[in-house]
Amino acid sequence: MLAMNYRGPFRVRAEDKPVPEIQHPQDAILQVTRACICGSDLHLYHGMVPDTRVGTTFGHEFIGVVQEVGHSVRNLKIGDRVLVPFNIACGQCVFCKQGLYSCCHESNAMSTAIGGVFGYSHIAGGFDGGQAEYVRVPYANIGPTVIPEGIDEEDALMLTDVLPTGYQAAEMGGIKIGDTVVVFGAGPIGITAARCAWLFGAGRVIVIDHLEYRLEFARKYASCEAYNFKSMDDPVLFLKRITDFLGADVCIDAVGSDACGNMMQTITGKKLKLQAGSATALHWAINAVKKGGIVSIVGVYGPTDNLVPIGNVVNKGVTIRAGQTSVKRLLPKLIEHVQNRVLRPKDIITHRFALEDVAEAYHIFSAKLDECIKPVLIPHP
Ligand code: NAD
Ligand code: ZN
Repeated sequence: MLAMNYRGPFRVRAEDKPVPEIQHPQDAILQVTRACICGSDLHLYHGMVPDTRVGTTFGHEFIGVVQEVGHSVRNLKIGDRVLVPFNIACGQCVFCKQGLYSCCHESNAMSTAIGGVFGYSHIAGGFDGGQAEYVRVPYANIGPTVIPEGIDEEDALMLTDVLPTGYQAAEMGGIKIGDTVVVFGAGPIGITAARCAWLFGAGRVIVIDHLEYRLEFARKYASCEAYNFKSMDDPVLFLKRITDFLGADVCIDAVGSDACGNMMQTITGKKLKLQAGSATALHWAINAVKKGGIVSIVGVYGPTDNLVPIGNVVNKGVTIRAGQTSVKRLLPKLIEHVQNRVLRPKDIITHRFALEDVAEAYHIFSAKLDECIKPVLIPHP
């Protein structure tokens, strides 16, 4: 089968690989119909995630058709069209039972730090992902969800990560009626978080990025204010000025680690003197939030990124909430929102590529070319 194959930092290819097989009675094999590239894949692509092995297939956002099931799979049958949460979760462990599917203790038993994730290096279990014609899905009674009536395939695709993550970012912010919410990052996650902030009763939503086309997209998609940090001397002071010098009630970090080469050039171009592995957006979030406010972190950081200004957190009494999204916990509510047209997550898809063009797709998304917001790979266009 054709599959995305990691060859090293900034080098990916579409290559031939063996079709995956059932390895466990609870496995299913899917024929992938659509898969996304996520900002989280860019951390892998940039070589910033430890133990990302050459030959791995990325892809944790995918939908497909069930081809084969192990003999303990009861909830799926061949031919079902399913969406699959990006977390691999057993559904039985102490964490899954609390709805903390991203912390599953069984799917990545070698780690106490992170549960299993499709296509996310050996730190997340070493599972191959869905940027391929076929994918093996472990614990198939738990994750895969039959795409409900009235949900378009590409909306379903956005339910595997982007929409739940944007929603969880807003939820972790503990937004109260009338709150001012600042979202750092106008990528797929940031603009979705901004859109979802209104559902929790925000009175004002502000997005910060440095890419004009994304700011413009955020204004339209999330009906928010959006500002370019490159045009500010000091983004924190700017945000204080427009919030009566109090700061925001809630700040959301939808950026993550500064490890991206492309982004670093821009930032060093502004002489902000930052190093790879630092956390610019998170610093801004902590410094721009009100005393007693909440900082919600969905941006992904690596083990060495530990540059949080903890003194400011303590002195201001800031609450920090963070996490990989527990997709399955949020699916029932979000499926309803999509069915009722409260949310239209597929509207952020700007690019569709055949799977064989995966190298070009990664390049365009990573370098933020061609006004790309969210790219989708199609194995059989
Ligand atoms: P993306 O790369 O498309 O978007 C990131 C955006 O941040 C870009 O538009 C970039 O210009 C902007 N940016 C860079 N530095 C900034 C700064 N200092 N201030 C404001 N904006 C800045 O990625 P994405 O798909 O939107 O993902 C965003 C983050 O969310 C990534 O770190 C990704 O790994 C993470 N993520 C987390 C989860 C989770 O479960 N917690 C799930 C999906 C994605
Ligand atoms: Zn993702």
